[in-house]
Amino acid sequence: MLRRKPLSTIEVKYQEIFFFHRSVFGLEKDVVKKSDDEWKKTLTPEEFSVLRKKGTEPPFTGLLLHQTKDGMYVCAGCGNELFSSDAKFDSGSGWPSFFAAVRPDAVVLKSDRSLLMKRTEVVCARCGGHLGHVFDDGPKPSGQRYCMNSVSLHFKEKNTKEAKKE
Ligand SMILES: [Zn+2]
Repeated sequence: MLRRKPLSTIEVKYQEIFFFHRSVFGLEKDVVKKSDDEWKKTLTPEEFSVLRKKGTEPPFTGLLLHQTKDGMYVCAGCGNELFSSDAKFDSGSGWPSFFAAVRPDAVVLKSDRSLLMKRTEVVCARCGGHLGHVFDDGPKPSGQRYCMNSVSLHFKEKNTKEAKKE
């Protein structure tokens, strides 16, 4: 489902509060919670640095930047389905870009004021892993640009079960 307009600051705030309470009170059964040590056992150092420590991969280095096959982009941390290849576009930014998440509840948006910028962070709704940021300068009809780290994603080609990076 595509959003017609970007989330306002207040909508982002409400969503944050909703997901905070959902995780705190255990309303979400499917949430993945692990300690840093546990994550280090299953993630590569690059994945750990981006997903768990909010790192950013250098632009134009991601393995999935030029991936054009049909399939699903899933969270590299927990396998949560995040973006369909149908929503991928070349933004020229150097990071894989999508105009919408595969489901509105696949990701959680959080206000991010780090680096003296006002941005909206995108995290995986299941494991809380940092994926990237969303901006309001995307193509129509959503007008959104989900600017994602390739490292945070695994690609599952259509009709194959194995998640892999190419
Ligand atoms: Zn995840």
